Amino acid sequence: MTITIPRQLLPSDGRFGSGPAKIRAAQLDALHTDGVSLIGTSHRQAPVKALVANIKAQLSTLFAAPDGYEVILGNGGSTAFWDAAAFGLIEQRSQHLTFGEFGNKFAAAAHAPWLSTPDVRAALPGTRSDSEIMPDIDLYAWPHNETSTGVAAPVHRVNAQGALTVIDATSAAGGMTFDATDTDVYYFAPQKNLGSDGGLWVALVSPAAIERIERIATSDRYIPESLSLKSALDNSRLDQTLNTPALVTLHLLNSQLAWILEQGGLPWACARVTESALHNRGCRRGLNPPVSRRLLAM
Ligand SMILES: *Cc1c(COP(=O)(O)O)cnc(C)c1O
Repeated sequence: MTITIPRQLLPSDGRFGSGPAKIRAAQLDALHTDGVSLIGTSHRQAPVKALVANIKAQLSTLFAAPDGYEVILGNGGSTAFWDAAAFGLIEQRSQHLTFGEFGNKFAAAAHAPWLSTPDVRAALPGTRSDSEIMPDIDLYAWPHNETSTGVAAPVHRVNAQGALTVIDATSAAGGMTFDATDTDVYYFAPQKNLGSDGGLWVALVSPAAIERIERIATSDRYIPESLSLKSALDNSRLDQTLNTPALVTLHLLNSQLAWILEQGGLPWACARVTESALHNRGCRRGLNPPVSRRLLAM
């Protein structure tokens, strides 16, 4: 017996995207228009630097960045950010809440020979774990939304003296609200809600995180240049990346940020995401709400 799904039930674009957001046609049109003067330009030239400056400014607005917080960016996506954090953000020992694939991957990256074995707090699929303050932990990490399980975790500061709160926002940024004062590092790659392409990581960093990055950079720890957060910080302050970035990724990110801000910023985006999740729950009864939340904007 062959099962045939009625045409009207099939999604109009049924690809499995890097999602959850689709790249809007208007973004591709804008790329076509602006691309003529942009694509093929060196990243040290004014058009690209202006684009990076605009992304930084729009993200600061979107996230209501507190005084002293900065937006930094580098090549390699969130996966590269985990290695960069092992080199230049974890002082000695980190704690990881793992409730899916992506949290696990950061914990694995923190198993570096120059660091103490990380404290990993795993949870059963569909549930989440909580952080616990421990005297030897200097960095607490978890995903805002664990894309692989759909479990969302609240963003709150771990009030441990001298420790950083570091949030993987790769599928949450641009779709979920949070208070930036509760984080030291809120990092993501832009190919999810931010309707862009991959290959880039972006992070909103607090003054405490900047101080940590600068301190470790002057220690005698070996840090490869392409994974150096200090180098990312220095270059970002000059509105550039260390090495050549994907200009299409920057452009798509910038136009999606402009669109979200025009519509009303994070509260608008979060409401839209929630509404989509509720539609989804309607037709996929049986899935728990966090899972439907993840599926929502696909
Ligand atoms: C997709 C995703 C990543 C991986 O991003 P890359 O840019 O492909 O490295 C990391 N964390 C979360 C929560 C994700 O959803």
